[in-house]
Amino acid sequence: MPEKVLVYAECKEGKLRRVAFEALGAARRLAGEDGEVHALLIRPGDALSETEALLARGAGTVHVASDPILGVYAPEVYLAVIRAAVDKVQPDTVLLGHTAAGRELAPRLAAAYDAGHVADVTAIEVAADGGASFTKPLYAGKAYEKRSFLPGGMRIVTIRPNNMEAAPVLDEGERSGTAAELSFAVPKLYTAVRSVVRRSGGQIDLSEADIVVSGGRGVRSAEGFEPLRKLAELLGGAVGASRAACDAGYCDYALQIGQTGKTVTPQLYIACGISGAIQHLAGMSGSRIIVAVNKDPDAPIFDVADYGIVGDLFEIVPLLTAEFDRLLS
Ligand code: FAD
Repeated sequence: MPEKVLVYAECKEGKLRRVAFEALGAARRLAGEDGEVHALLIRPGDALSETEALLARGAGTVHVASDPILGVYAPEVYLAVIRAAVDKVQPDTVLLGHTAAGRELAPRLAAAYDAGHVADVTAIEVAADGGASFTKPLYAGKAYEKRSFLPGGMRIVTIRPNNMEAAPVLDEGERSGTAAELSFAVPKLYTAVRSVVRRSGGQIDLSEADIVVSGGRGVRSAEGFEPLRKLAELLGGAVGASRAACDAGYCDYALQIGQTGKTVTPQLYIACGISGAIQHLAGMSGSRIIVAVNKDPDAPIFDVADYGIVGDLFEIVPLLTAEFDRLLS
């Protein structure tokens, strides 16, 4: 039977998250030549440019649920929309990003349909016979396991951002998808979001950033993060932090990376004044290239770093910023 895959194409602040395109890439591989790729777009209003972006990357049908109630994320409502899409499409597999919303919605969806669920998948292998295995990290990234689903049920999978190739944009002539409206019934709500207070805003999403410049206790103060912010801004990256830096009040906990913080897998991770405790490594050791700046030559961060600079971060970071500025201008 040809495989039907439904992707929840999540948006953040009105724009499609990059993980939506990565999930679409995975969906195209799972569906193969004969299968169907469906995308679900949840929008409070106009969805034209996002719909076109999904069609351009190979979605066969983009199901659009648009209603003003969708302007504020409420898991009960979003789950009702996803269930409406599942009931309409009857997919074999549903893919979501392993984001805050994806982590909340996927288990609820699996419970609602008595479906199998694998979370935080970093790779999907599709065999010649169409069988698929899903790789996920264990023990904070110290081991990986491959899982496959037993036949008979729907598969619900969340995909870790920044680990899979985004679906490539198709030539105009290759696009054959269409958009369809999706209706849904608003469920009975037990709670309501009255307001959202943003504690750290404006910066690129840490979990999807290509470049992360992170500071630890060695940064010494909130002002000490300023050189790191300048470097991140110049490189188009995001600022992260160790838990010690957050505990010390140098920055917001929203920036914490590690076992009890966010997991990041950027192309480039620059760790400044971070010792490299195992709990910090759990959140960043999957980064493609790791650069460490630390004045202690024996700091454990150098064991995982591809490039290590022994020195004072307050001298090194401005030098790096000036050099990148020269190279980029
Ligand atoms: P430190 O270990 O104090 O290291 C500071 C480093 O800065 C040192 O290596 C020092 O040489 C260097 N330095 C100082 N001044 C300079 C300078 N001027 N220039 C260059 N280098 C300098 N930690 C996390 O990060 N994330 C987590 O999610 C997390 N979860 C945890 C969960 C549990 C259950 C527990 C028990 C701990 C957790 N921790 C976590 C804490 C973790 O164990 C470490 O304490 C923490 O990561 C240390 O942060 P740090 O490297 O910034 O500080």
